[in-house]
Amino acid sequence: MTLRLHNSLTGTKDEFQPLENRHVRMYTCGPTVWNYAHVGNLRAFLFYDLVRRHLRVSGYRVTHVMNLTDIDDRILDQAMHAGTTIAEFVKPYAQAFFEDMAALRAERAEHYPRATEHINEMVDMISTLIENENAYIADGDVYFRIASFPKYGELSHLDRAGLKAGARVAADKYEKESVSDFALWKKAQPADERIGAAWDAPFGRGRPGWHIECSAMSKRYLGETLDIHAGGVDLMFPHHENEIAQSEAANHATFARVWLHSEHLADATGDKMSKSAGSFTTLRHLVNAGHDPLAIRFFLIANAHYRSRVRLSPEALHAAAEQVRRLREFADRVNRTSPSGADDGELARKTADVRAAYRDALDDDLNLPQGVGIVFEHIREANAALDAGRVGPLNQASLLAVIDDLDAHLDVVRAEEPGLAQEVERLIAEREGARKTRDFARADRIRDELRARGIALEDSKEGVRWRRIAPAG
Ligand code: AMP
Ligand code: ZN
Repeated sequence: MTLRLHNSLTGTKDEFQPLENRHVRMYTCGPTVWNYAHVGNLRAFLFYDLVRRHLRVSGYRVTHVMNLTDIDDRILDQAMHAGTTIAEFVKPYAQAFFEDMAALRAERAEHYPRATEHINEMVDMISTLIENENAYIADGDVYFRIASFPKYGELSHLDRAGLKAGARVAADKYEKESVSDFALWKKAQPADERIGAAWDAPFGRGRPGWHIECSAMSKRYLGETLDIHAGGVDLMFPHHENEIAQSEAANHATFARVWLHSEHLADATGDKMSKSAGSFTTLRHLVNAGHDPLAIRFFLIANAHYRSRVRLSPEALHAAAEQVRRLREFADRVNRTSPSGADDGELARKTADVRAAYRDALDDDLNLPQGVGIVFEHIREANAALDAGRVGPLNQASLLAVIDDLDAHLDVVRAEEPGLAQEVERLIAEREGARKTRDFARADRIRDELRARGIALEDSKEGVRWRRIAPAG
């Protein structure tokens, strides 16, 4: 089967083909670094990771760009309150984002451009839009003229007559020709200067709007036409609609060929998790409550298909942890088996079928939950074969290959760095030695060193145990 992805633009699952042979250009909307990312944001970011991994499994080279929004109204407000510059204000949150992504084992994108480092590209694009009369200046602000772009609304299948301004658009209080026109540039206010949030431009000193950054930065790193653009479903309107309008009006080229949108994570009450609404949980919260980041990873990508809503609950996280444990236990058991007898033909055939079915599930719009279900069913059979001593050397190799296939997306089974367990055990022994000689300073240093590497120690009846946590930051 070939890879099919649900394209929001067409509303159907379409066969995927990049423009350039075997190379995919992908842009994904990243975090606004005004606070810690909540687990809902992380669901979107891990969805990007899943897309990226499956493209690579499918033999594509991927150039993946994820932006950091380091200027927006909330960042301005917070920096002003804190009496600091926006650059200083966002620092810890940008760092926390990278730590969270590492703890969740998201593969790194090729580029993480920051909005404030690409103001020139945005100014250039806005200048072009003004020249083309797709944009106009009103009292020092610059707006995109939606009436100049007949395709507006195609992605979200909006009825143009019924267009309503979106939340972030409605916050603009300036003179516009039409209520749905959106800001490309906002005139500098005296307070913006104090917090380092104003730049020169031919159309007046100011700062960029939110939407223009993605149009400008995707072009800078990936060119005018993207193979894939992804984001959370809440971004479809107005953000993605506005990106299309800006890019296509400026470049006269198709902006993104495939649009992927992931569904929301809901909180325990079933509402969308959102920072502004105040109901949100961070990775740090969950890890401090004792959850393994990799169980959280499993829950976020494998519990439900990316286009359905999921609800965060302690029960769901425990169930995910249990599934991760079972996968690791199985992988361990297959690894430790020393097959002596002949291979079981029936098991070999079934294992081959399972590998094909797993691949088909992922090729079918990234249906990882289905793929995981297929593997778990087979694990039951394989365990029975192991109990009965019916696993030969080829059986063993192909069972390990099933786990490898699965882990290429999940990355929770063999996630341990090679040699990590021995290294940790060695440090634990060293710390025990230090404690015996009452060198508590040294014992504490070892514990802190492990903590910084994302390992927490726990004293238990059977001695000291360790578990993964988000690295200390
Ligand atoms: P933001 O930091 O608000 O710009 O959002 C970053 C990403 O998280 C975007 O792709 C959003 O669509 C996504 N997102 C925001 N809230 C949720 C949620 N509750 N569940 C899933 N994704 C979300
Ligand atoms: Zn964006």
